[in-house]
Amino acid sequence: MSVLSTPYSFTPKNYVSSSISQDDTAPTSKAGYLKSLEALQVPVPPFFVISYKRPLTFEALQEEIAILEKKSGKLWNDVTSGQDGLFVSVRSSFKVSMPGMLDSLLNVGLSFNHARLVNQDYLWRSYVKLIRNYAYLVEKIDAQTFPELPKEATLEDALKAETIFQEKTGYAFPQNANEQLIQAMNMVHKSWDNPRAQAYRLHENIGSTSGVDVIVQTMVFGNLNSKSGTGILFTRNPSTGEKEIFGEYSRQVQGEEIVSGSLTPSPLQVLEQDLPCAYKILRDIALQLEYAFLDMQDIEFTIENGKLWILQTRSGKRTKTAELRILIQYVEEGILTMEDALRRLSLQGLEQVYHPYLEHSNGLEYLGKGLGASPGAVSGILATRQDTAIAFIKSGKRVIFAAQETHCDDVASILGAAGVITATGGMTCHGAVVTRGLGKPCVTSLSGLKVHQDSVEISGQRISEGTALTIDGTAGTVWKGEGILKVPEQCEALQKFLCFSHRTSALEVYVNADTPEDWKAASAFNPKGVGLCRSEHMFFQSTHLSWFQGWVLGIQEALCISHIRHLQEEDYTRLLRQVQGKCFTVRLLDPPLHEFLPHTAEAERVLAQKLNVSVETINTRTAALKENNPMLGQRGCRLGIVRPELYDLQVQALFKAAVQVHQEGIPVDLRIMVPFVMIPKEFIILKQRITQWGLQYNLEKSSWMVGVMIEIPSAALQACDLAQEADFICFGTNDLTQMVLGVSRDDTAPMIQEYQSLKMLSVDPFQTIHQASVGKLISLACEAILKINPHIPLSVCGEHGGDPESMRFFHTLGIQAVSCSAYRIAKAYLAGAQIMLEKKAYSLDTSSLQSLYIA
Ligand code: PEP
Ligand code: MG
Repeated sequence: MSVLSTPYSFTPKNYVSSSISQDDTAPTSKAGYLKSLEALQVPVPPFFVISYKRPLTFEALQEEIAILEKKSGKLWNDVTSGQDGLFVSVRSSFKVSMPGMLDSLLNVGLSFNHARLVNQDYLWRSYVKLIRNYAYLVEKIDAQTFPELPKEATLEDALKAETIFQEKTGYAFPQNANEQLIQAMNMVHKSWDNPRAQAYRLHENIGSTSGVDVIVQTMVFGNLNSKSGTGILFTRNPSTGEKEIFGEYSRQVQGEEIVSGSLTPSPLQVLEQDLPCAYKILRDIALQLEYAFLDMQDIEFTIENGKLWILQTRSGKRTKTAELRILIQYVEEGILTMEDALRRLSLQGLEQVYHPYLEHSNGLEYLGKGLGASPGAVSGILATRQDTAIAFIKSGKRVIFAAQETHCDDVASILGAAGVITATGGMTCHGAVVTRGLGKPCVTSLSGLKVHQDSVEISGQRISEGTALTIDGTAGTVWKGEGILKVPEQCEALQKFLCFSHRTSALEVYVNADTPEDWKAASAFNPKGVGLCRSEHMFFQSTHLSWFQGWVLGIQEALCISHIRHLQEEDYTRLLRQVQGKCFTVRLLDPPLHEFLPHTAEAERVLAQKLNVSVETINTRTAALKENNPMLGQRGCRLGIVRPELYDLQVQALFKAAVQVHQEGIPVDLRIMVPFVMIPKEFIILKQRITQWGLQYNLEKSSWMVGVMIEIPSAALQACDLAQEADFICFGTNDLTQMVLGVSRDDTAPMIQEYQSLKMLSVDPFQTIHQASVGKLISLACEAILKINPHIPLSVCGEHGGDPESMRFFHTLGIQAVSCSAYRIAKAYLAGAQIMLEKKAYSLDTSSLQSLYIA
């Protein structure tokens, strides 16, 4: 039986032979860092590591212990040794940090006799803690079974703990150091499967194969006397990235009390005052370690009777702003090149830098989780009806608008609201797309949400309109109460990265913008232009909606068309002026018409009044337009063919606006995009019509193009024919995903989440392209297109356009550009630059690690 197995009885003779290999240790694991510290001659308490791959024989374990005895000058398993006894901590080490998830045991090897011989508070305390933690971790006995330790621990406390231990386990607390050690090692190894580690692994996608090494390290006692203590130091400020030593220190305590948060430590200056010499050594070591590892370090240290020991170092957790700033500092200090800094930058959580975020959830009641559909956090009061939402907004309140799903009637509420929650819908549903464009937090498919007239129910709890809620659209969480939000400052370091990425990105980045406001929000991130203007979003505005609804319903068509024409001319003129000669890609009307129709009796009444008809007429016409499967019904270019007047109107408005803007001296780069093409013939007919209008308006041909959107598998399969006709091609990967996978983009978020938790899908296919299916189809289409027309502009404008992993894939297919919502541009540029850098092999220069020894 190996040491790292499951023995609860002490049978040392049975252990299987093996040995430790230095190579087994991942350099970024706790053990890896300890080995590096040792190599750098940093004062680390002597230790050894048992690899999970190679359990030790009992004899090999004893050999390691003997080396430890020699290095530490202390004696193992010798009850007469008192203060000279060798005691160890038994800790876990995994290749990535799993903070606090795996178990460890301190003071192993300590017996009653050791404590009695020394007879001091610190050792009695350590002994009682050993019994209590051993009982809890090895024997799974509730820690509350043991009484609180008084200020001064004594022999009586130890006897009490021993008695409780025996009562609960049926055996006396082991006094043999080897027995304690082996049980502790097994316990650490098995903690891989404790419930919190399991939950953490699932959350972090770590997988289930254990890889826990065990570190056995000589104990040093921060609680020994007044010249002792324990602390944690960051080599830079982990919140701001400021170049300053930042840390905490506690006099006369052991490290676990700081880590567990059971006491409030003092600032590091206390150590500087108490023990200036130890502080200076610590600071020097810290600075050198940062440069040795080329990363900000989080260092755990203990001072035992005035002597400094470094217990652990690792790459320090930091905010995204701090990460960006630190990397730029390294570039400015000449330690890293800009390329290396960008390679090291993790794009996960980048949203934190420009969206408000929840500082903490103290005082809030957790209500539930859904999909983080539009990032950022916000607090406001709940509204479920448009009139209450508007009334709250008018009275100066921030509103969280809740809807079962969002409709056109809700647009006014969404526009006015500070945030949105919905019961259904995925990352590409209407509410998600609109809020992302507006930069407002949104949580879709909120688990257990039911929306009623004037309240909502979340997981059984009824919450009335007017109640304060906080939503975190980055994490997808919803809370009751008003949270403390942090608004990030403008991050100069991000600008520096962006400046570099604009020049180096492997893909051009455009924005999905429907209004001048969207463009304004986007321009701070410097997109190449507008890659997708969903023209129908203009019709959701209150100025447009009823005229558009009139046209949809065939009521007062001529009047409605004339109003829409005028409005569209204004819309496009404003946008073309604003983009100042950058590319402006407009998609002609796309969604099913019923999406624009009133959904409530009140909305029907208002429309009837505006169009001067009865509510019955509205009802009858609405019923006539009803489709059983509208997403596959009368929409996109099909409408352009069967009801051509609206496409004609849009195209004329675009050309008229282009002529106007051109006359004002502003260059024009107009791209008209035909959506939802099923067969090439549709595109051929519409392109001819658009071209005729173009010729009539006499606009230079170099300033406009007509392209096709591939959103239907049929179009992808006929891409070769489309490539002969189109000036540009853009993949609408939202609809393509829906149709290739056969999953509704509006209804299947819970199913997808379930599949993800069952590991049937590794990612949400509406966020990251499903390469084996949708990706394969796009790949086939690109191959066919580029064969026919190698220089045709090829882009993606679905939500995948802003997803780094999908971008990486698109780039391999020859796609040159992506278009995404304003707040994803920064990430897309950085990902684009990283993709470019990935082409060059990257190797970290480790020579500094060897050359920097600490005196
Ligand atoms: C798409 O389908 O990818 C797309 C961009 O269009 P929409 O999301 O508006 O359907
Ligand atoms: Mg689409």
